[in-house]
Amino acid sequence: MTDRRTLLAEVPTGIWLSNTSVPAKSGKTFPVIDPATGDVLVEVADGGVDDAMAAVAEAAEAGPKWAATPARERAEILRAAFEEVQRRSDDFALLMTLEMGKILPESVGEVNYGAEFLRWFSEEAVRVGGRTTTAPAGNGEILVIKQPIGPSYAITPWNFPLAMGTRKIGPALAAGCPMIVKPAEDTPLTMLLLAKVFADVGLPPGVLTVVPTGTGSAAQSAAVMADRRVRKVSFTGSTGVGSLLIKQSADQVLSTSMELGGNAPFIVFDDADLDKAIEGAMAAKMRNGGEACTAANRFFVQNGIRPAFTAALTERLSTMTVGPGYDDTSELGPLINAKQLDRVAGLVDEAIEAGATVQTGGTRLDGPGFFYPPTLLTDVPAHCRIRDEEIFGPVVVIVGFDTEDEAVAAANDTDYGLASYFYTNDLNRTKRVAARLEYGMVGVNRGVISDPAAPFGGVKHSGLGVEGGVTGIEEYLDTKYIALTPHTD
Ligand code: NAD
Repeated sequence: MTDRRTLLAEVPTGIWLSNTSVPAKSGKTFPVIDPATGDVLVEVADGGVDDAMAAVAEAAEAGPKWAATPARERAEILRAAFEEVQRRSDDFALLMTLEMGKILPESVGEVNYGAEFLRWFSEEAVRVGGRTTTAPAGNGEILVIKQPIGPSYAITPWNFPLAMGTRKIGPALAAGCPMIVKPAEDTPLTMLLLAKVFADVGLPPGVLTVVPTGTGSAAQSAAVMADRRVRKVSFTGSTGVGSLLIKQSADQVLSTSMELGGNAPFIVFDDADLDKAIEGAMAAKMRNGGEACTAANRFFVQNGIRPAFTAALTERLSTMTVGPGYDDTSELGPLINAKQLDRVAGLVDEAIEAGATVQTGGTRLDGPGFFYPPTLLTDVPAHCRIRDEEIFGPVVVIVGFDTEDEAVAAANDTDYGLASYFYTNDLNRTKRVAARLEYGMVGVNRGVISDPAAPFGGVKHSGLGVEGGVTGIEEYLDTKYIALTPHTD
């Protein structure tokens, strides 16, 4: 593994254009902070609208040639990038832990998961095909072909700095689309290192550009999406920003993929295996420090098993070691920044004022760094903000229930519809409840549900479109109908 100082010196910190790192046209930079200490790691170029426009121009120029590159060659570049990310797994993991805070083993997990999208879509690149049908009225042939949608724009969040990028870049490049990426301001470094890896394995200049920005996200996205050379926007982030982007994309009638927020229910029925449910709860809640769109947000536990479940989970949470993600002993890292720390602490304080009981945690930890302890609350009144909003932190809220109907109604009582989980050993109930949950994804007797081969996406306010799986590449393809009447004379 490269040591921390060498790694930070090697990572590109400019705007990534023409496969090289260049300063922002304004010359401005912004700091990237280590959330475990609050210290500045490095300064990164603060891209402005003119830098983003340079990326659009490159994408427009590189696009036709990349689209015409044989699928096998595009696949080979994606495959080589997959291998290079794996080879540099330790570097990617350390970088992610430094800028995002998650514990190192979880960063290693994300490198594996994130790299898989490059491998998966390298394999999908060569399987894009259309179909032909003889027109039923004997009126020639219906030829349906798939073509790359064109220059695409990705806006990514800070919680999975690599995977949220590869989940978009993989299918875009496989489909033959150039991609412009705007990484989150908290975590631009992982994406910049990924861009360098792509250049190292031979991706032509202009096919992948990265325009980090400190405070200029809104201006950048408005300008890029107003440019008629751009045809697609793929966003992962909060529902508020996603909704704004959908409105902005309307002027150019852009294709949009929206992976937005969640408010996942985690239901435990009396007949569930307690130990397995606790393991699942730890994974669904504490993975990534709770900063995941799929994180369990509300635990509905049937009253027969509730006392044992609450006691066992409280015990697990109260013995976790909190500390910097790069310390071997840490089981929970810091939150991403001071704003998120204030938000999580505020949600808990408000719940306590409303009558919640603290079983463990509940008070922010002293700095430096943005640490919040594993926390478990019971007796939280309905429609307290902590039950209605995405917590995005290591806080468990347990609510009891008596009947299956009650649990399903409570689980569906939210505008979100991304991930959901339940534990039961009853097969009939499994099928019933899975069908009734108004969510894009349902985990049954498991607390982690994403997989590059699965269609990841939400319903209701959680998004539009899916990423990954065999349909993931469709988000970057247009369907063209050619009405073909061959001359027979
Ligand atoms: P966010 O919406 O604040 O930011 C996401 C990205 O949007 C960042 O790159 C940010 O710079 C950019 N952005 C912010 N304001 C913008 C604007 N006005 N115009 C254009 N871009 C703008 O979200 P976040 O806090 O970074 O991430 C957490 C959110 O992401 C949570 O709600 C989480 O549920 C969601 N998320 C969803 C998925 C999913 O696949 N559904 C995955 C991970 C995270």
